[in-house]
Amino acid sequence: MKKYYMAVTYDVCEHNDLYIDMKEYHIDDAKDMDKQVWELAKVDVSPLVKVYESDTSDFKDFRLYKEYIFKEYECSCNGGE
Ligand SMILES: [Zn+2]
Repeated sequence: MKKYYMAVTYDVCEHNDLYIDMKEYHIDDAKDMDKQVWELAKVDVSPLVKVYESDTSDFKDFRLYKEYIFKEYECSCNGGE
């Protein structure tokens, strides 16, 4: 069965308890997923990208497929103090 993938970029700051989903993107499963996710992280400067998988294109039911962490985009603040 065909699977559908969606990537969500997150803005995360541990110091300020920030954990915000930014944008959703369609992932083309015919192309290299890692490469697409990496491009999205770069565009949004996102330290965390989650890829969700669904059996239907409307994503009525979906589950977490993979989580990507990009250390280079982690926020550089040190929480003040
Ligand atoms: Zn921070």
